[in-house]
Amino acid sequence: MNRISRRGLCLVLAAPSGAGKSSVSRALLEREPELKLSVSATTRAPRPGEQEGVHYFFRTVEQFEAMEADGAMLESANVFGRRYGTPRAPVVEALATGRDVLFDIDWQGHRLLRAALPEDVVGVFLLPPSLVELERRLHGRGQDSAEEIARRMKAARDEISHWADFDHVLVNHDFHETVAQVRAILQAARTTRARQPWLPDFIDGLLRP
Ligand code: GDP
Ligand code: ADP
Ligand code: 5GP
Repeated sequence: MNRISRRGLCLVLAAPSGAGKSSVSRALLEREPELKLSVSATTRAPRPGEQEGVHYFFRTVEQFEAMEADGAMLESANVFGRRYGTPRAPVVEALATGRDVLFDIDWQGHRLLRAALPEDVVGVFLLPPSLVELERRLHGRGQDSAEEIARRMKAARDEISHWADFDHVLVNHDFHETVAQVRAILQAARTTRARQPWLPDFIDGLLRP
């Protein structure tokens, strides 16, 4: 049995901004060595501390549109008036080599990714305990202006309305509990029949007299 022959999967974490996607992603990546992050391209400006190629590939609108035209994006969408997209090549390579890819993308990205890779997507939607708590977290993060927070609070209702697109829905009350739940989902998804194409041969061998 070749352990590498497992197909990689796409774990999508989506949520209204401020619900905890980035924090949960960071914790997952620290604990799951076979999981790598899909680094998105975006036309928004870097926040303090964000690094090119680590958090995002920061691109001009012209550069972003050239990537789309070249077919270099697996999906792309408008979020908060900016362009965000998933570069195709790293995802295709990871799946082929049996590694799982984590996506911190919005509901549109999830829908498009599911259409592009129907067998490979596990969708997890994070909800805040309340909208009051969501706004508290956005302020607490201290990275967005009051106008930007107001914009994200307005967009939150729309993002939340897409909850039923997802395989799993979690309320992010307790951070550590949420991380444990997402890890359990990942572990379970890795062992479905479809993810282990070597199983029929293994079963044949197991049952051979
Ligand atoms: P965040 O909400 O604090 O993570 O703020 P960001 O500015 O980093 O992201 C804004 C929104 O764009 C979030 O809803 C992300 O999930 C979404 N997003 C990030 N990357 C992508 C992508 O590659 N594709 C799509 N469709 N959405 C993305
Ligand atoms: P997103 O990536 O969804 O926009 P972040 O991960 O940046 O959200 O989280 C927004 C803020 O809320 C951060 O300051 C983070 O530390 C905090 N946060 C995340 N999860 C929790 C939680 N379960 N309880 C309290 N605060 C949280
Ligand atoms: P640890 O297991 O060391 O307590 O936490 C691991 C990661 O989770 C660290 O990146 C830490 O910053 C983050 N973390 C721990 N508790 C919380 C929390 O309540 N909220 C958020 N957003 N992150 C947390």
